Parts: sequence; C-alpha cells; structure tokens
Amino acid sequence: MYDYIVVGGGSGGAVVASRLTEDPNVKVCLLEAGGPDKSILIHAPIGVAAMLPRKINNWGFETVPQPGLNNRKGYQPRGKTLGGSSSINAMLYVRGNKWDYDHWASLGNEGWSFDDVLPYFKRAENNERGEDDLHGSGGPLNVADLRSKKKINETFLSAAKELQHPMNDDFNGPEQEGVGYYQATQKNGERWSAAKGYLTPNLSRPNLEILTNSPATKIIMEGKKAVGVEYKKGRNKVEIRASKEVILCGGAFATPQLMLLSGIGPADAIKPFGIEHVHELPGVGENLQDHIDYVTTYKSSSPDTFGISLGGTGEIFKAVGEWRKKRTGLITTTFAESGAFLKSKADLDIPDYQLHFVISMLEDHARKTNFGNGFSCHCCVLRPKSRGTVRLNSADPSADPKIDPNFLSHDDDVEVLLNSVKEMERILHAPAFDGIRGDQLNPVNMDSDEDIIAAIRNRADTVYHPVGSCKMGIDHMAVVDPELKVHGIENLRIADASVMPTLIGGNTNAPTIMIGEKAADFIRASATASEKAA
Ligand SMILES: Cc1cc2nc3c(=O)[nH]c(=O)nc-3n(C[C@H](O)[C@H](O)[C@H](O)COP(=O)(O)OP(=O)(O)OC[C@H]3O[C@@H](n4cnc5c(N)ncnc54)[C@H](O)[C@@H]3O)c2cc1C
Repeated sequence: MYDYIVVGGGSGGAVVASRLTEDPNVKVCLLEAGGPDKSILIHAPIGVAAMLPRKINNWGFETVPQPGLNNRKGYQPRGKTLGGSSSINAMLYVRGNKWDYDHWASLGNEGWSFDDVLPYFKRAENNERGEDDLHGSGGPLNVADLRSKKKINETFLSAAKELQHPMNDDFNGPEQEGVGYYQATQKNGERWSAAKGYLTPNLSRPNLEILTNSPATKIIMEGKKAVGVEYKKGRNKVEIRASKEVILCGGAFATPQLMLLSGIGPADAIKPFGIEHVHELPGVGENLQDHIDYVTTYKSSSPDTFGISLGGTGEIFKAVGEWRKKRTGLITTTFAESGAFLKSKADLDIPDYQLHFVISMLEDHARKTNFGNGFSCHCCVLRPKSRGTVRLNSADPSADPKIDPNFLSHDDDVEVLLNSVKEMERILHAPAFDGIRGDQLNPVNMDSDEDIIAAIRNRADTVYHPVGSCKMGIDHMAVVDPELKVHGIENLRIADASVMPTLIGGNTNAPTIMIGEKAADFIRASATASEKAA
C-alpha cells in the first residue's frame, strides 16, 4: 500500500515522484516500463545519435499510414527508461511562447496563464547564466550554454543576419523571435534528464520506491474511483494499491492507451476490444497534436561540420578523450546547436515556425546513414491545426498503441510549412554559405510550390513533440480539469505532455517538467484539504 502511485518515470513522472517524496510521511511508488538510466549513451550527449534511430532506451513507435504524407508511416521515438523522453531527447531548453499559456488560460484553464506558470518554470530551473525575472537558479533542472559549438553555426547566424532576421541570445527571454544558439539541459557536459535532476539525487529516500522494467497494464478501479495499478513483472501480474491517488505520466501515447485499457474513454474505442467500459470520457485519445517537420540536408567539405568518414572517426576518438578529461568537445553536442523562431507572414504577432540547424547530415531520423561531412536544417510548424488520435491496436497492454497524428490534414499547416521551408532555403542560400554549401541530398525546384509541397509530403515527419491526447479543459472533450484530475473519476490525475490543450510553440520537455511541478502542488494541496476536512 502506497499513498501515491506514479505511472511512468519521464519528464512529468520524475518530477511528481520526486516532489511528493520531499515529505517523508508520504510513500510513493514510481512504476517505469523501461530500465534504469545507466547507459553511457544517455549521459554522453552525442549518444542521442545512437538511440534516436534504434530501440535503445526507445519505444520506437510507428504511426498508421498518413494520407497527408503520401501514405507513409511516421516514426515516433519515445524514451523507455528512467527520465523517459528527456533521456533520449536533443536536450534543447525551450519553453514556448508566453502566448501559448495565455491561450490555455483563455480556454478556461484557470491557473495556466504565462504569469501563473512562470514561477514553476523558474522553480524547476538552474540556469547557469543566473537568476533574473524570467529564469530560475537552484532548481533541479540544469540549463547550460553549449560548451563546444561547431563553427558552422556562425555561418547559419551570419546567413540569417544577411536576410535581416533579428538575433536572439535567449529564446526563453523577453522575445522569442529571432535566430541564435539553444541552451541545453546539460550539466558539466553531460545530459541532464528529468531523472538526473529529480530522481538520481533522491534514490536513497526510504519513502520513494522506483520499480523499473515494470509496465503498468491497468488502473484498478472500484466503481469510479482509482484505487491501484496492475503491472507486469516478468511473466507475473502484480497489483499495488494507492490510498490517495494514481498519477498517470506515460506520455502522449501511453497515457491514453492505459486509460482505454482500463475502460476509461469513448465506448467505441474500448468495447470492440472486449474491455469493460467503466466511464465514458469522449476526449481520451483525441486531440493529438505534433510538430510536423521538414529537413533539408547539404553536403559540405567544410571541417566546421561533423561527418561520418575516416577523418570523422578520428575526430570522435579524439573527442572521447577530451570529454573524459574535460567534459567538453564534440561529445557534448546536441546536433541541433542553433536555430530560430520566425514568422511565415510579416503581420503575425508571434513566430509560427521553428528552425533547428544541425551540424551534420541528417535524413530519416538518422535511420539512413550518410557518409561525409555536411549540415542540415529542420523546419517545423509551431501551432499545427491538424488533429489526430491515439487508440488501441489490441487489448494486450504490451502491444503498441495505434498512433494517428493525421499530419498535414489541415491545409493551413501545408501553407505554413511551404512558406517556412522557402525561407529556410533562402537562409541556406545566403552569401554566408557560399563555398560551404555542397550538393543538396534531395534537391527540390524551389521555384515551384507544387514541387516543394510534393517534397514535403514525401519526406516530412515529426520533430518529436506529440501532446494533447488527454487534454486539460472544461469542455466535454476535456479529459482532465485545470487541476489535472480526470473528469468523473476519483483519485486519478494525469501529469505529462498529454494534458496540453494545444501544442506550445517550442520544444516540449521544459513545459512537461513545469506540468509535473504544478501537479505536485495540486496533489499536496488536495491532501492538505482532505486532512483538514477529516
Ligand atoms: C528524439 C526526441 C528528441 C526530443 N528533443 C527535445 C528537445 O531537444 N527539447 C525538448 O524540450 N523536448 C524534446 N523532446 C520532447 C520531450 O522530451 C518530451 O515532450 C517530454 O519528455 C515528454 O514527457 P512525458 O512525461 O510526457 O513523457 P516521457 O518523458 O516520454 O515519459 C513517459 C514515461 O512513461 C514510461 N511508460 C510508458 N508506458 C508505461 C507503462 N505502461 N507503465 C509504466 N511506464 C510507462 C515510458 O517508458 C517513459 O519513461 C524530444 C523527444 C524525443 C523523443
């Protein structure tokens, strides 16, 4: 018997489990389907290149064929280890735009405006640049400037300057718009995942039990009350009980999957699988949103880039030595080292697309290897209007969920991506890149919108930010209320990326950690209120 059971030890779950167990009288069990975060590929930042394309600490899901992507199946990597996706992500520290949170509040989510969430971003943060009005210090999540940036980034910044784009030295500062370097969730040249920040320092707490390789298979219900969780240990099914609450933190795919497996959700997504329908909640698995992204890639003979070649292998060996001694150099790379938040139309109030400039050649999520040096640039739509779903493939909890992001089903997403890809290519063809830019890997006739759209439909895919499949809100499609409690069910909350009502304009790790921080406060406040009432 525990007070709380947290399902999933990722960006949301690690925070909730850690914050709740600050009180020694509170007993928490954290269930994680993946293993402990021991691998060097997690802690050495460059290891992302090995994990991203393979099922190493990674669920490596696929989507159903996407009509908007010429019926291709998309790829959906997700972390499967303590720290979840923050253990395999690109480590970029981005919060999104102030507008995003004010928008959440305007949808009826009281307590989620930018002014409301800022203290939680700051509480989480230890920014090595120090504390100010917008940044925190002393928090568990270390945020650092990149230690060893490749020189090719300067070419990217100069090219953007040549096109009159503003520079920005802090995408989480007063203005998001502009071009500059990303800050990273790293410390001393190592990845700083949610597990590293929130769990590792607290492993000795006697009131925190972390069970790895223990996938939850069902929420145990008594009527409309969550009372525990069933999970799998080897071949056995084990039941554990929570006297206070169960908190789901499996992420945008696993959380709706577990809800459906437990009979909570739309009847037509549950009953056909022979699962007892416990509670009608039409929004479970709906409202899936993700950043649709297009990558362009160029060869380059410039040594300022990184490449897989005889020379490149030598560079890696040297870099390993440097990292061992000084924790600097190529091993600390996030690959996407600089980037931009820009507007596809001059009259927009805030940026609507993002660029990630990558120091190497990149194709198909690094599942395709390209030999030689080069550089790439991602371009993604920040607030897509396409909406998808997460459903069951099977009543077997070990089966992958059925993921349908429904990419580019909304024409406005195609238009934003078309216009932003054009601007990205203009930057990469600015004079600063002359003499550096080699052949393009998949050349496209930039004079033809039709050809560019065809290229987008042939090659675009996620940039790894699925959210919204158990959205927070007060309308009938909302799954959780603004205190993250599941509508109509007692003692069940959700605290992960699935609760975002709309996708924020930026990367989603820091916002999910902020959600975990807020969830912990809500849970503590509920416990205090019940104690007083008793
Ligand atoms: C390749 C990649 C690159 C990214 N790059 C960035 C970036 O640079 N910056 C950024 O801000 N964001 C980035 N993101 C996104 C960001 O990391 C995620 O949005 C965030 O980590 C999501 O947090 P979460 O808590 O919702 O889910 P997760 O962190 O994915 O955590 C879910 C956890 O639940 C576990 N789980 C699943 N099912 C079960 C079950 N049945 N029982 C028990 N446990 C279960 C999973 O194994 C996982 O550990 C990236 C993501 C990926 C995959």
